[in-house]
Amino acid sequence: MKISLSGISSLSSAEDSKIERVKILILGSGPAGLAAALYAARADTNPVVLAGMELGGQVSLTYTVENYPGFPDGIGGQELVELFQKQAERFGARIDFDLATEVNLSERPFLVKAYSKSYLADTLIVATGATPNHLNVPGEKELTGKGVSYCATCDGWFFKDKDVLVVGGGDSALEESIFLTRYAKSVTVVHRRDTLRAGAILQKRAKEEPKISFIYNTVVTEIIGEEAVRQVRLKNVQSGEEWLKDTDGVFIFIGHSPNTQLFEGQLEMDAAHYLVIDHLMQTNVPGVFAAGEAADPHFRQVITSAGMGAAAAMRAIHYLQEHSAEKVSA
Ligand code: NAP
Repeated sequence: MKISLSGISSLSSAEDSKIERVKILILGSGPAGLAAALYAARADTNPVVLAGMELGGQVSLTYTVENYPGFPDGIGGQELVELFQKQAERFGARIDFDLATEVNLSERPFLVKAYSKSYLADTLIVATGATPNHLNVPGEKELTGKGVSYCATCDGWFFKDKDVLVVGGGDSALEESIFLTRYAKSVTVVHRRDTLRAGAILQKRAKEEPKISFIYNTVVTEIIGEEAVRQVRLKNVQSGEEWLKDTDGVFIFIGHSPNTQLFEGQLEMDAAHYLVIDHLMQTNVPGVFAAGEAADPHFRQVITSAGMGAAAAMRAIHYLQEHSAEKVSA
């Protein structure tokens, strides 16, 4: 394939003035994006990170990260992100607080439009992360922010001495339940099966915590309240029995979906819309790499995302070297 890195001709001059040419553009500022920025910056490629909705992504909402090596006493999620950012910026990475709205990966350089400007990128690293799943039950949408939450770190404080319910049986549900015991009077975990999915250490900790209790084989079918959550309707999935339970809050931790809508029809995805990459972080479009939760349904850890980000940056640097303008036009 003949590749030109010299610019595309289909842009008007007005559009041109709001377009910046970059060697490596990174979409997303979670651990994957910021680790990619660090590696790309240290290779003198002046990478630009489009930070997205929230600098740091999901980890910035995590109270404590206890499994990132180098921090034996744990570190706050927000603090960790700030350190990632500082380290990447020290070597010349730039972070733009903007959100990509449109991409065109059919021509090189790749065109990425954001709200305030556009970019022409020789290589792209997609590190757009994932978003918490919703239950999709009546009352959930209406009462979000009024007692329904997807982030204990953000909202736990509002439930001081209150009774809260946590939906889910994975690591997130138990980790956040334990965190909520700082504030709440009681935390009831509602799980749809009789076995928790969470790892053994978290299970042990949660089961030993006196404020936490469990309701198994049960789902939430409705969240009830006007100005604030008052009750949930629960249903035992085995007996079909339904009942109402009073609660002041409902925290939902039932997994995530990748933020890959922008690439629909352009990048190959699996059935759950995670980007498909090879072992070198390469998507189906040469020059477009992906890292972190947008391409990882399995591990979803700060360390694995950061590792993927570093790997994607190394491959992007390699791609730039291989496809320098002289080489491809020769
Ligand atoms: P997860 O492991 O996918 O667990 C989701 C939980 O929600 C499961 O228990 C699932 O039930 C339940 N669920 C899914 N859809 C549901 C629905 N519609 N209604 C009711 N329940 C529903 O998600 P996660 O807990 O967010 O963890 C994701 C990944 O991040 C995992 O790999 C996890 O190890 C990792 N993580 C690690 C840590 C840590 O190491 N400290 C912390 C957080 C997350 P079933 O079990 O029946 O499927």
